[in-house]
Amino acid sequence: MQTGTSHLFIPGPTNIPADVQRAMIVPMQDHRAPEFAALLQPVRDGLKPLFGTREAQIALLPGSGTAAWEAAITNTLSPGDKVLMARHGQFSVLWADMAQALGLQVEIMDVAWGAPCPVREIERRLGADRHGDIKAVFVTHNETATGVTSDVGAVRHALDACFHDALLFVDGVSSIGSIPFEMDLWGVDMAVAGSQKGLMCPAGLGILAASPRALATMESSCMARSFLDLRAMLAAHEGGSFCYTPPAQLLHGLRASLARLHTEGLDAVFTRHHRLAEGIRAGVAALGLSTVAEHRIFASDTVTAIRAPQGIDAREVIAIARDRYNTHFGGGLGPLAGKAFRIGHLGDLNEGMCLTALGIAELALKAAGAPITLGAGITAAQQVYAGEPHTPALSIAAE
Ligand SMILES: *Cc1c(COP(=O)(O)O)cnc(C)c1O
Repeated sequence: MQTGTSHLFIPGPTNIPADVQRAMIVPMQDHRAPEFAALLQPVRDGLKPLFGTREAQIALLPGSGTAAWEAAITNTLSPGDKVLMARHGQFSVLWADMAQALGLQVEIMDVAWGAPCPVREIERRLGADRHGDIKAVFVTHNETATGVTSDVGAVRHALDACFHDALLFVDGVSSIGSIPFEMDLWGVDMAVAGSQKGLMCPAGLGILAASPRALATMESSCMARSFLDLRAMLAAHEGGSFCYTPPAQLLHGLRASLARLHTEGLDAVFTRHHRLAEGIRAGVAALGLSTVAEHRIFASDTVTAIRAPQGIDAREVIAIARDRYNTHFGGGLGPLAGKAFRIGHLGDLNEGMCLTALGIAELALKAAGAPITLGAGITAAQQVYAGEPHTPALSIAAE
């Protein structure tokens, strides 16, 4: 029997704060009544600052982040359109697969898993696209598989430098609400989020922000769409409802989680994620482990993918943490299976939880046979959290 609380350190779904959980225990309500409109509107308004937008329209789509990926494509593009996408982790790979499955002509840029999206290469390809065949550039802002954050603003600069008018689509599923996202400033046309990561709610909603330009494009795009037709959904939203039965409980949860984020203040939320992530990174380094992210400049503040030491199967580390310590880490995805494990550090999180994550990771690594010094990771993180300058500890145990 497992006693005590179980620890969830996967990068989504994340921990749901108690008040958000309670906010979802509500009786069923009439979703065509004014009370529902009074719930929907503040949720849509409250989401806008997280996306960094005043201009975009927010659509809430029953489904998950993947549904919003699909809606972004099917509402704005047409079969055969050429799009530019980098693959540098499982999520960017899957979005590219989807684009291909939906009949787009996908120009792929394969880069190392652990690198950010290749801005120079994007600029080069846009510059070479003399006839403007590329209709959209896709960026995975925070590659959750590798723990790498890409520079969306730099991609906007690349587009502008080439005077290229391709649409800019950004996956912010594991970044929006946790780290800065500036949709208007970066000229993002479609920004994708989901309810279960930084927004601290159950899975079940894909969230899409569409720029005025994206909205205008919807009229001329001719890809088949029905359930996820944004024109219908946005019209329904304007009328205070959905085109079909909405997941009302989720909206109650979202209203409560947005209230939390806005009460803390978005700048404070971002600073907290950065501080907590710095502690995790210091801990990982002090254990002598390397991250999948190739450089700390683009290491994600919401998830850290950690390479298992030579000869250690990351799956075993994860299984030990789960079975002995009631603690859940994310697995290595795709080619990283067995090679890496991930600590999600986003959403409703504090220092104590991060120290627990590191402490359990140490125990599980040790039990799996990794040569680590117990306590080295925790100590390094504590030094970060205590505000002391941190000198990396000796990494390999003197056993
Ligand atoms: C989780 C995630 C997705 C997929 O979202 P679902 O809600 O599982 O459909 C897409 N992109 C990124 C970057 C993610 O982290």
